[in-house]
Amino acid sequence: MMNVILFGAPGSGKGTQSLKIAKEFDLMHISTGDVLRKEISDGTGLGQIAKDYINKGQLVPDDLIVDMLAKVLDTRKESKGVIFDGFPRTLTQAESLEKILNARKTSVSLLIDLQVVETELVSRLLERGKLSGRSDDNLETIQSRLAVYHKQTAPVTDYYKKTGKYVAIQGTGSIDEIFARIRSVLAKLS
Ligand code: ADP
Repeated sequence: MMNVILFGAPGSGKGTQSLKIAKEFDLMHISTGDVLRKEISDGTGLGQIAKDYINKGQLVPDDLIVDMLAKVLDTRKESKGVIFDGFPRTLTQAESLEKILNARKTSVSLLIDLQVVETELVSRLLERGKLSGRSDDNLETIQSRLAVYHKQTAPVTDYYKKTGKYVAIQGTGSIDEIFARIRSVLAKLS
């Protein structure tokens, strides 16, 4: 199985690129942000809890996310693997993912770190906020999401660097240019 983590700050383009990767390499796309937004719109218990964290720009607690992720993973049908978008976002989540995948006789193949400078992230997210109507795409929440990213999420890369499963990719340029960079890295894996 090819299990790829698409990693990067909020606004780095994970969602956009994940969809393209999923299509090209026949992978199941799991976006924890999308799953959470669905839980919220369905009015589930998890959605009720998640909403407050998301609106403050904070992370939803690890135990809730890990349970949610394991359940979604078990709905996988025919595919060559999974593209994880927005997960893992903490070291605890990274360790849990390892266990979850090992229990299913597979493991993480690679983490791709999409790198974009902070000023560009903020302007992309503000721009997206005008169209998406996402409650967390306003300046105040964007700033706390970026702070949370630096403090809690960025250290996740060390976990994959240690095992040689880390690749950084420049996340600026056109969508197709960025995708071409990602594709050439993934083509070597598959
Ligand atoms: P972005 O990458 O632009 O922040 P996402 O849709 O991935 O957008 O995430 C939106 C919000 O959902 C996050 O700010 C966080 O509150 C919550 N969330 C998503 N994935 C996770 C996760 N793996 N762990 C904890 N919270 C998460």
